[in-house]
Amino acid sequence: MSSEYVLPTYGRAPLTPAKGEGSYLYDTEGRRYVDFCCGIATCCLGHCYPAVVEALCKQAHTLMHCSNLYRVEGQEELAELIVREIVGIPGRVFFCNSGAEANDGIIKVARRFGHRRPQADGSPRYEVITFNKSFHGRTLGSMAATGQKKIQIEFDPMLVGFRYVDFNDIEALRAAISPITCGILLEAVQGEGGVNPVQPEFLRAVAQLCREKDLLLMMDEVQCGFCRCGTTMGWKAVCPEVEPDLVSCAKGIGGGFPMGCFWVSNRAIDDAGTELSSIMGPGSHGSTFGGTPLACATSLAVVRELLAQNLAERAKRLGEVVKREVESWGLPCVEGVRGLGLLRGVGLRRGSFTVPEGSTPAAYVNNLCREAGLLACPAGEDTLRLIPALNIPEETLREGLGILRSVLTRLA
Ligand SMILES: *Cc1c(COP(=O)(O)O)cnc(C)c1O
Repeated sequence: MSSEYVLPTYGRAPLTPAKGEGSYLYDTEGRRYVDFCCGIATCCLGHCYPAVVEALCKQAHTLMHCSNLYRVEGQEELAELIVREIVGIPGRVFFCNSGAEANDGIIKVARRFGHRRPQADGSPRYEVITFNKSFHGRTLGSMAATGQKKIQIEFDPMLVGFRYVDFNDIEALRAAISPITCGILLEAVQGEGGVNPVQPEFLRAVAQLCREKDLLLMMDEVQCGFCRCGTTMGWKAVCPEVEPDLVSCAKGIGGGFPMGCFWVSNRAIDDAGTELSSIMGPGSHGSTFGGTPLACATSLAVVRELLAQNLAERAKRLGEVVKREVESWGLPCVEGVRGLGLLRGVGLRRGSFTVPEGSTPAAYVNNLCREAGLLACPAGEDTLRLIPALNIPEETLREGLGILRSVLTRLA
């Protein structure tokens, strides 16, 4: 076998996973790793969770795919569960396959909203404000929404209609809103960008500005959602009273199976009572593979487990354990632990240890952890991200933290 035929878009670690079991991953050499990466926050129930494997296999034997030309019962059941128990606000769901697609979907809804609620002269509004260090995906739309230059290098010209503002800066946001603005898109915790939580007063101000200026509040819950942050959705851990208009989801929703969705509020957008979700009628959007019976059956099993075991509450509790434990080590290379629930970032202090030429503190420490038997994930250049399964046994969590401690202690 050779990597010669695979497009080299990833800087891959020298590790070939062979098997997963709960919060352990095994490589082809038979080495065992504690998994705090979890497929980048996707395998929220760990690897090969029995009820999920069973649901997937059963559906695979019955009907995998049938097309959205027909009614898909699994979508209806899953959408109801997501609307009622996960988002908790009346609305409707569109199923897709990934986070980038979900974000492209809500950008489309925002643009259509900008046509239905145009500027004073009748021309459409189309600009979505996003934030520096955000991450929304790699498609042309979601890449343009992403407030990181390095993601966009040599793919310009970017899709028009985005403007980037510093995260948590209310005045800068207020100043950026113009007659062409139709929405504001943000993460409750910037995941890829360094595990930066939104400040409650900022999120409240965003919601307030959206109401004042007739803008859509768009939450990218791809990484934060589905109980990761200690509540069913990430923004609820920050400001439970805030009601977004659009929410994009993926990652944890499928428990490792490729799945994504976006939710659109039923809120009235005009005096006639037109529901926002009604502006996406037949023919307005689609996806051949979106919400297959196989994906829906698998996701349904995942979401039921998340809710039945109250894994949001568990994520909240274990997230506190991670924070307290890492901070209690009092290590000079640790700048503090940020994040919410089981989306945690260990800040690494620049200059407190030597980083090999060409590497970053986060990538370097991540490599050392892997060599020591712990899989984590960098977030930006200076943050090590810990995103274990939400059902990780406390004992395994402590085992992983023990490995992290020995790695960081050796550094110091
Ligand atoms: C991972 C991620 C995405 C992109 O999801 P894909 O499934 O890789 O397309 C978008 N937004 C956020 C916040 C993410 O963490």
